[in-house]
Amino acid sequence: HAASKPPPSPSPLRNSKFFQSNMRILVTGGAGFIGSHLVDKLMENEKNEVIVADNYFTGSKDNLRKWIGHPRFELIRHDVTESLLVEVDQIYHLACPASPIFYKYNPVKTIKTNVIGTLNMLGLAKRVGARILLTSTSEVYGDPLVHPQEESYWGNVNPIGVRSCYDEGKRVAETLMFDYHRQHGIEIRIARIFNTYGPRMNIDDGRVVSNFIAQAIRGEPLTVQAPGTQTRSFCYVSDMVDGLIRLMEGENTGPINIGNPGEFTMLELAETVKELINPEVEISMVENTPDDPRQRKPNITKAKELLGWEPKIKLRDGLPLMEEDFRTRLGVPLKK
Ligand code: NAD
Ligand code: UDP
Ligand code: UDP
Repeated sequence: HAASKPPPSPSPLRNSKFFQSNMRILVTGGAGFIGSHLVDKLMENEKNEVIVADNYFTGSKDNLRKWIGHPRFELIRHDVTESLLVEVDQIYHLACPASPIFYKYNPVKTIKTNVIGTLNMLGLAKRVGARILLTSTSEVYGDPLVHPQEESYWGNVNPIGVRSCYDEGKRVAETLMFDYHRQHGIEIRIARIFNTYGPRMNIDDGRVVSNFIAQAIRGEPLTVQAPGTQTRSFCYVSDMVDGLIRLMEGENTGPINIGNPGEFTMLELAETVKELINPEVEISMVENTPDDPRQRKPNITKAKELLGWEPKIKLRDGLPLMEEDFRTRLGVPLKK
């Protein structure tokens, strides 16, 4: 009779991919700048369930506020240097502070995040059979002797400098990715990201575009670090997210450069910000930090050919979009 029937209990297999028609995606570092824009894009697809794991070192819940409580979204306070048990189909592994002032703040922690954090995410990928994408960096080219940088270039990196926790850390992370791929057959994707900018960057995170825009809005001098002739190439965040998703969905392991080849000196960037945002503002030359790369520009032939990707948003079009966000957050409305 009825009493002898076992109570309905959730099957332990219910958590298994086998019963999921949706794609379940883990984004580590998803509360950060690029991560939160990536989450926005992934959540647009109703077949995706997104889990974010973040320790809020440089990211914030605020970046994800529109998704908190959404049935396809989950946010976990978690440090990737500890192991993580979740069942997912894809892992976008972004967790790592990206701005020099934050990654230099606790360099040993930065190394642990890059090495132990990536090892843990690879162990997770191995256990559940997930595909994993690492957001590596143009910093793996160090102070490059080849210009523009193509993926076959091995780089010129100081192993014992103050940036090494970040650039050597990412180089080891790339090594781990390839060793798990060769040794355990894990499906890997590696993006080498070049300088990226856009709304939601930390206002005081010390990176050049966020510094100049905040300074221009506040009417403070734009601090160009000497000599000002060093170059960077800036990619708008929506282009970056599009490139990362194409890489994950495509068939190539990479590494593939994702960045905007438009190259500017820091003096040119300051002049552009001044012209677009506040023509009254001064430009002042300040001291630089050690090991600052002198030039950086991606060769994106591989991204074009293998992913059909190239950036769409020019610096002059992207800066005003970021200005709007910064004005709102700084509480300084547009003069006009
Ligand atoms: P970000 O600092 O805004 O985001 C990083 C996120 O990772 C933050 O939310 C932070 O809280 C989280 N995090 C840091 N350490 C963690 C840990 N141990 N455990 C869990 N979470 C942790 O930086 P971003 O600009 O969004 O960069 C994202 C990724 O892209 C990073 O891997 C970075 O190295 C890479 N990247 C960024 C750029 C760029 O220009 N923004 C350039 C090259 C590479
Ligand atoms: N790991 C994890 N989640 C998992 C599986 C593994 O965080 O679901 C971590 C685990 O703690 C280990 C690392 O990933 O430290 C590497 O795992 P792997 O199985 O490759 O190595 P092993 O555990 O055999 O050293
Ligand atoms: N920079 C600058 N003024 C600032 C902050 C940075 O001129 O207020 C310069 C810095 O010396 C470097 C470039 O801008 O040459 C990019 O620095 P950022 O920290 O944004 O990124 P990364 O060095 O990681 O490329």
